[in-house]
Amino acid sequence: MQVNLRSFKQKVRYHKSAFKRYLGKVEKNPPRNLDKMAEQIDAEVWKEIDCLSCANCCKSMTPTFNKTDVKRISTHLGVTPAAFTEKWLTYDKKRRGLDE
Ligand code: SF4
Repeated sequence: MQVNLRSFKQKVRYHKSAFKRYLGKVEKNPPRNLDKMAEQIDAEVWKEIDCLSCANCCKSMTPTFNKTDVKRISTHLGVTPAAFTEKWLTYDKKRRGLDE
């Protein structure tokens, strides 16, 4: 299933007030099984989503790489982790220690 992000963004903007009211009500009086419901819905939704066909997160946000990612990608590319890091990554001091 493809998501039309432009249309989705417009719908979110259009229904913003109603959505905020709804979330406010849920926050004040959450259903007993909310966490379980969220887990089930999450699993169902991710079965149908192909991030590789969308890639919006990679296009609009800065991805982070932990040591395992760097090792895996550098091995795939046939370069050393140091060479991969030097050529492709920048170090974000604010996130230091979070992804190690
Ligand atoms: S890349 Fe991001 S926006 Fe696109 S489907 Fe995956 S999580 Fe959603």
